[in-house]
Amino acid sequence: MKLDAKVLRYMSPEDFRVLTATEMGSKNHEVVPSSLITQIAQLRHGGSHKILSELARRNLVAKVQHIKYDGYRLTYGGYDYLALKTFCHRNSVYSVGNQIGVGKESDIYIVANEEERQMVLKIQRLGRVSFRTIKSKRDYLKNRKSASWMYMSCLAAKKEYAFMKVLHENGFPVPEPIDQSRHCIVMELIDAFPLRQISEVGNPGKLYSTLMNLIVKLASYGLIHGDFNEFNILIRENGDAVLIDFPQMVSTDHPNAEYYFNRDVECIRTFFKKRFQYESLLYPKFRLDTERQFDLDVQVAASGFTKKQQQELEKFQEEEQKLAEELGEDGLRELESDDDDEDEESSEEEDSDEEEGDEEAKEETEEAKELPVSIGKL
Ligand code: ADP
Ligand code: MG
Repeated sequence: MKLDAKVLRYMSPEDFRVLTATEMGSKNHEVVPSSLITQIAQLRHGGSHKILSELARRNLVAKVQHIKYDGYRLTYGGYDYLALKTFCHRNSVYSVGNQIGVGKESDIYIVANEEERQMVLKIQRLGRVSFRTIKSKRDYLKNRKSASWMYMSCLAAKKEYAFMKVLHENGFPVPEPIDQSRHCIVMELIDAFPLRQISEVGNPGKLYSTLMNLIVKLASYGLIHGDFNEFNILIRENGDAVLIDFPQMVSTDHPNAEYYFNRDVECIRTFFKKRFQYESLLYPKFRLDTERQFDLDVQVAASGFTKKQQQELEKFQEEEQKLAEELGEDGLRELESDDDDEDEESSEEEDSDEEEGDEEAKEETEEAKELPVSIGKL
């Protein structure tokens, strides 16, 4: 799912009202009845109906035929728009530039504010697996009706922002967090390459200890990264390491803390062996080398990302992981290739009647990728 920044510029206040009404309605309805949208937006029925069709044409909402009523749901496109609008309003983002990364669960863009400071926009796209296999996995998903992609992506962004903030404030080498809205965060752009892309370092032993010390220091502050690998460690030209990507961080009090800790350590050992032929007998052990001195996990909870939210997200992530394993590489690739038709989230009672293959819109998206698009007047 690509962020189509150009689409963002052509929105009237009425369009925005209807889109916001759809978002509000989605808090309680998986499919928001058209009548409810009209009521919340307080526009004439004909008026909001026309706007909804237009928003659907631009993939900001999707029309869904529900078993009992017709309605709409917000798409990722619509949700992206609302988040960007909020960032604009708070003067954190003024223009959107190129995409620099596509993760399994996120899209990464360069953005800038009005002073032309470049930053990174990370858009969480959780549920690429489970919400796509909704047809085949109906029973499996029955138990978690409330776990919508919107809600889960929003939780992941909240979590990442909260952890980044606390880590940054405590002097850890992480990007400066700048803003968060819905499923998006804005952070400092780090001028560096992922370790993954680095074929040689002057002193592998030194980098190895730096990274192991970072794992130990995190644990002494009560935290485990949980995905401490060569993709999530950026190396600056001067050799300094910067840690990114926090939606899976756990507390050292987590029942599986030792497992996660050892996995992080093992990731680094394996990578250093393979890439730099560097092996050391010294590596940290959870029980021996970590002594908790600070409670950053408690600070995170205090900063607004609650334990309950943490548990909810963790449960979802575990389920996603399980599903991904069941599907295997091929199954996942198949899902990814469907990814542009983001509106296929239909089940038996839901049938999206989107028009497909709007060539013009696709071309615009391509173009939007190339140019920084000013969205400052959103
Ligand atoms: P994911 O959850 O999809 O793995 P990441 O946060 O790890 O997302 O980001 C994916 C990629 O985007 C990273 O490997 C890195 O190359 C780039 N990236 C992410 N954040 C930044 C940043 N603040 N500065 C520079 N590059 C970044
Ligand atoms: Mg990553």
